[in-house]
Amino acid sequence: MANRALLWVAEKPRVQQLISEGKLTQPVVKRFVAGDVLEDAIEAIRERNASGIGGILDLLGEGVTDPEGAQSAADDYLAAIKRIEETGVDTTVSIKLTQLGLTLDKGACIDYSRRLAAEAQAVGTTVEIDMEQSDFVTDTVSVYRVLQPDFPELRLAIQAYLRRTPVDLQGMADIKPRIRLVKGAYAEPEGAAFQERSEIDAQYAFLIDWLFENGTAPAIASHDGSLLEHAKRAAARTGLADHDFEIQMLYGIRSGLQEQLARDGYRVKTYVPYGSAWYPYLMRRLAERPANLRFFLRALTSR
Ligand SMILES: Cc1cc2nc3c(=O)[nH]c(=O)nc-3n(C[C@H](O)[C@H](O)[C@H](O)COP(=O)(O)OP(=O)(O)OC[C@H]3O[C@@H](n4cnc5c(N)ncnc54)[C@H](O)[C@@H]3O)c2cc1C
Repeated sequence: MANRALLWVAEKPRVQQLISEGKLTQPVVKRFVAGDVLEDAIEAIRERNASGIGGILDLLGEGVTDPEGAQSAADDYLAAIKRIEETGVDTTVSIKLTQLGLTLDKGACIDYSRRLAAEAQAVGTTVEIDMEQSDFVTDTVSVYRVLQPDFPELRLAIQAYLRRTPVDLQGMADIKPRIRLVKGAYAEPEGAAFQERSEIDAQYAFLIDWLFENGTAPAIASHDGSLLEHAKRAAARTGLADHDFEIQMLYGIRSGLQEQLARDGYRVKTYVPYGSAWYPYLMRRLAERPANLRFFLRALTSR
């Protein structure tokens, strides 16, 4: 559950500048980010593949402010797909629609996403769509719905903390959607999202049950042991084999558990971020867990 105050402070330009430029931040960045360039992420995924774990490539970056930014992100995603083909690593590619210009030109964003889904399909992999702040949910779901008939393998992230999510999912029941279920990582207002851990966890559990009954190959993206157990029980109840659903976790978090689950026969994927625009991503990871923040502050003050 995100610490909203921390995310608020993190958005202040001065704080951002201090942390982004601070060399002492680097060990903390390294824990959560595979590296500055695509090759670093490919290497990290190769290592995971050796333990039977798949990858989810994540080019770091958030909303762009001009069409050139969207074009440049699309080019970077295409380069990643080409590299997947060349190296043969087992990974999907996750995209952020605001990075592809969702807020500037939705039509162009759909065109970019379609091209990426097609290129991914051609090299035997798939695209996953990240879910961002609540302001973008309606458009993100609608882009997914436009592309899904042509690319049924496409996966959409859905956030359990949003009050609207059960309605969004019910609206997609006809297509048996392929969903990545997450708790939600952004600081959202009370009207849009549950704030209490107990409420978020209860909705997450409810949505697990919904997805195992109404979705396709659900991906449970969480490090929360009790929700993962809930998913295993839902799989047993609905007759899904251990390999018919996915457990997804983040690079640098509970790596030992990821390996254990893969050894136990589950389909596990690690979300592997790379790129230089790591600041907002790192702040979300720190805001999720006081222990991460302490680790970070210790690194900053250790010299
Ligand atoms: C594969 C994947 C893709 C994601 N995609 C999106 C997305 O598209 N949109 C979005 O809004 N969010 C996304 N998220 C983030 C998600 O919303 C949560 O913020 C994040 O997963 C933490 O929630 P949790 O379910 O692990 O549960 P929590 O209740 O936060 O954590 C449960 C336990 O996991 C461990 N843990 C959790 N987080 C950390 C951490 N940062 N550092 C160390 N230990 C930790 C701790 O042991 C903690 O007690 C994604 C997460 C994953 C795993």
